[in-house]
Amino acid sequence: MNYFAGLDIGSTAIKVALVDEEGKIVGVHVSSSGSLFHKNAKEALQNLLTQLGIAKDDVRYLIATGYGRKLFKEADDSISEITANAIGAHEAGKAFGGVRTIINIGGQDSKAIQIDDTGNVSNFAMNDKCAAGTGRFLDVAARNLDIDLEELGDYHFNGKGAPLSINSTCTVFAESEIIGLLANGHGKEEIIAGIHYSIAKRTVRLAKRVGIEDRVYFDGGPALNKGLVAAIQDELQRELVVPEHPQTTTAFGAAILARNEFLAENP
Ligand code: ADP
Repeated sequence: MNYFAGLDIGSTAIKVALVDEEGKIVGVHVSSSGSLFHKNAKEALQNLLTQLGIAKDDVRYLIATGYGRKLFKEADDSISEITANAIGAHEAGKAFGGVRTIINIGGQDSKAIQIDDTGNVSNFAMNDKCAAGTGRFLDVAARNLDIDLEELGDYHFNGKGAPLSINSTCTVFAESEIIGLLANGHGKEEIIAGIHYSIAKRTVRLAKRVGIEDRVYFDGGPALNKGLVAAIQDELQRELVVPEHPQTTTAFGAAILARNEFLAENP
């Protein structure tokens, strides 16, 4: 059996997706990037293969993408995360009737990508200068509030009062602001909802720069946070398409391209 892999070596997490000859997902894996990108990426791939009982030699073609892609010299090819994300969202978006705008929030950056109806990138904008508006902001906030990342969504919906406004435009200052709000007796729920709206406002500004066309696909690790999804939908005034595995869309796109390149070379 032939399999094709996409390896997305992100700033925060390593994502692996494996597809078969039909381009169907066989398995995905997410683990922390840590500081040893190459070693951790190799282990992540091996862990997924072991989990699925697939031999390494059955992986015919591997494409690396993401922040650390250049470090993975064993890859057959590498592509930018923007191209890989576009391919993955286009493919996964078919089940929802097709998508034209992608919002991606990662660990250290956020992007808005516009694609045409064949999945080619027609426009994109990126924020990689500032951690506010990225997963990093949520990681810092969760730590300050002493809750798990997975709980952010529940807190968002359980507030009794309106979301508080978080005015700091920098993660470091926002951290002090959050601590100040806690010290003044504000609830974690209202603080968290405020953080989500602050990220949502930035994200929507970024998306407006590329132009927003339906349907809008939201991916990256923070798309697992239902509270953030709700806040972005509220700010956008439209529904988002959130796939089952939002964090692995870019790895999936790289795996689809790996399959296509292999089959083109080996008809
Ligand atoms: P990158 O590609 O830059 O490494 P990811 O798309 O993998 O980024 O996203 C990483 C971010 O996803 C983390 O910083 C974290 O904020 C968020 N995240 C990961 N898992 C969860 C989860 N279960 N719930 C909410 N947020 C999550």
